[in-house]
Amino acid sequence: MKYDVVVVGGRISGSIASLYASKQDVNVLMIEKNQEIGTPVQCAGGVTRSFFETLQMKPPQKLICSEIEGAILHAPDGEKFLTKNSLLQGYILERKMLDKALAIKSAEAGTDIMLKAQVKDLIIEKGQVKGVIVRHQGKLLEIPSKIVIGADGVESQVARMAGLHNGHNPQDLISCAQYEMVGLDIDPEILEFYFGFNKAPGGYVWIFPKGENRANVGLGVRYGANSAIYYLNKFISHLKGKIVELNVGGVPIGGPLKKTYSHGVLLTGDAAGHVDPVTGGGMHLSAVCSSLAGKIAAEAVINENLSSSYLSRYEKEWKKRIGKNLQRSLKYRALFDNMDDEELNSLIKFLNTNDFKSLSTLSILKLAREYPKLFLVLKNIL
Ligand SMILES: Cc1cc2nc3c(=O)[nH]c(=O)nc-3n(C[C@H](O)[C@H](O)[C@H](O)COP(=O)(O)OP(=O)(O)OC[C@H]3O[C@@H](n4cnc5c(N)ncnc54)[C@H](O)[C@@H]3O)c2cc1C
Repeated sequence: MKYDVVVVGGRISGSIASLYASKQDVNVLMIEKNQEIGTPVQCAGGVTRSFFETLQMKPPQKLICSEIEGAILHAPDGEKFLTKNSLLQGYILERKMLDKALAIKSAEAGTDIMLKAQVKDLIIEKGQVKGVIVRHQGKLLEIPSKIVIGADGVESQVARMAGLHNGHNPQDLISCAQYEMVGLDIDPEILEFYFGFNKAPGGYVWIFPKGENRANVGLGVRYGANSAIYYLNKFISHLKGKIVELNVGGVPIGGPLKKTYSHGVLLTGDAAGHVDPVTGGGMHLSAVCSSLAGKIAAEAVINENLSSSYLSRYEKEWKKRIGKNLQRSLKYRALFDNMDDEELNSLIKFLNTNDFKSLSTLSILKLAREYPKLFLVLKNIL
């Protein structure tokens, strides 16, 4: 076995990266440690329309559970704010089917897929990555490759082995738990978010509809004495509905890694920290970065240049596309981190009583007059 490109991780980022590499006529292998692509699910399935636009795909109807028109934000004191901002409009997808559909597309483009195979190490010669060592069916195999793409998620071993990351600061990891539930009383076109220290300390609760009475109900937490599942059980105790699936997982919300490439290696998706620090959403960013990773890896092979300096164009390119948004989102996260329940109540009240399309000078003055504490928090961040 010998490949031009080896992709470690076979979910959304790995499938997109391998698809875009295979489209360019190089030999690609995607390695996944689980026996099935897409499970266990670690996602609520929410994507903006930009996801499919980036991949130049029509949204496949069979993957769409709900089309989303807006969202309700629930303040800790119970006040609600309904928004139909176009940025929120999109889909709730059946995530395990999406990952499988992308893997199938990738295989059809030429990618070989190796399942139940865990990458244990990188082959490194004179500082250049030259392949991977894999445990598969009880054996350790050496698989040489010209380039390795780490799409192996939040706990990326490729990032560690390539010396690009040492693990996340606990403040930058959000721990999530989610139930898929049926028999719920929900609006199938509206997302719901609940905020408050007693509900989800350091995070938020989401209800993402998957049709008329079905939804992913989940939350992420960063502080507090109890686990995500404790808070989730507490939250759903007031809902009428039955649980049909449990999903758990961590999300990196500290922003992108300082460096996402090295000699013969690229990182993408959660492995690279390509996740929105406020929402914890990673799929739309994976569409941008993983397609670039696959394309640039193949170009490096074709141009016979696998050096770190050639591969740096990957980071330049993804920064050009999403770098500013991620930096802005990090600032917003710092803002939310500094807000207590009282300030969150003020914010939702403010959103309800003002046209918040843009923070005009007038609205800033109004904010300073009516909600001085909230204004001070905003002023320190913006
Ligand atoms: C509960 C929850 C809800 C979320 N909801 C949303 C949402 O609604 N919208 C959104 O956009 N984002 C959401 N996210 C974030 C989103 O799921 C991630 O950003 C996205 O899944 C990242 O995809 P990935 O392919 O980079 O990594 P992963 O999905 O983590 O895939 C990595 C893959 O690599 C494999 N792997 C790991 N190590 C190895 C190894 N050594 N050898 C071989 N294979 C390996 C793993 O088995 C896994 O299949 C959510 C996350 C969680 C936890």
